[in-house]
Amino acid sequence: MFACKECHQILEQKDKHNCPSGIREPTISREWQGFVEVIDPAKSQLAQELDIRTPGRYALRIR
Ligand SMILES: [Zn+2]
Repeated sequence: MFACKECHQILEQKDKHNCPSGIREPTISREWQGFVEVIDPAKSQLAQELDIRTPGRYALRIR
């Protein structure tokens, strides 16, 4: 599993990531720790801190 350094999304594959950050070639890392499942970004304080707007799984720390 990979994580995008720009938007924190957890990715099953390194390619095929359409990054919502708008960055064309975001940094994808294998070195990440912990994740959070965001179901309703509008109601999640953490989602707001991480600037998450789409439900999904997001890594907490990415190296
Ligand atoms: Zn991304």
